[in-house]
Formats: sequence, C-alpha cells, structure tokens
Amino acid sequence: MWLVILCPRCGEARYVKAGYKTCKCFKCNYRITIIKNGILNPELRVLKIVNSPKEASYEVRKLKLTPYPRIFDTSKVRGLKKFRKWFQAK
Ligand SMILES: [Zn+2]
Repeated sequence: MWLVILCPRCGEARYVKAGYKTCKCFKCNYRITIIKNGILNPELRVLKIVNSPKEASYEVRKLKLTPYPRIFDTSKVRGLKKFRKWFQAK
C-alpha cells in the first residue's frame, strides 16, 4: 500500500510506502511524521491509499496541478479507516 499525503508544513504532495514512520518533504525538507506512538498520525493528511507506486505517482502528479491552498476532504478516503486500525492492531 502507498499513501498519497500532503506535507503539513508547505502542502506539497508526495507519496510514501505504507509502514514508514517518517518521510521527508522534497520541497521544504520537513520531516513528516506518519506513524506517531504506534498509530497513524491523526494529523497527517492522507488523500489517497493506492496499491502501487505507479498509481501513487500519478495521483501526486495530479495534485501538483491543483493550486494552493490545497483543501481536500480527507474524511472519506477509501480504506483509511481500515488502514488506521491496521496500525492500531500492531
Ligand atoms: Zn513541505
């Protein structure tokens, strides 16, 4: 699984493989926390969960065409609920 996320500091879109605890924003170098205290960081804006890096990079490319401010409804991301639970179970 791959997560399409936004940098909490600058709003830049990027993707990261599920399981990483942190990743760096390519734009502002901010260290994005993905897993916090064993659970998926509730403040992390996950825009999409996809099954391949190809899909993920496609989504990121699409997002980069979206002008700032990038406001998305992240409450209805498919699979996110299940994904959160997956972390909490560990
Ligand atoms: Zn950033």
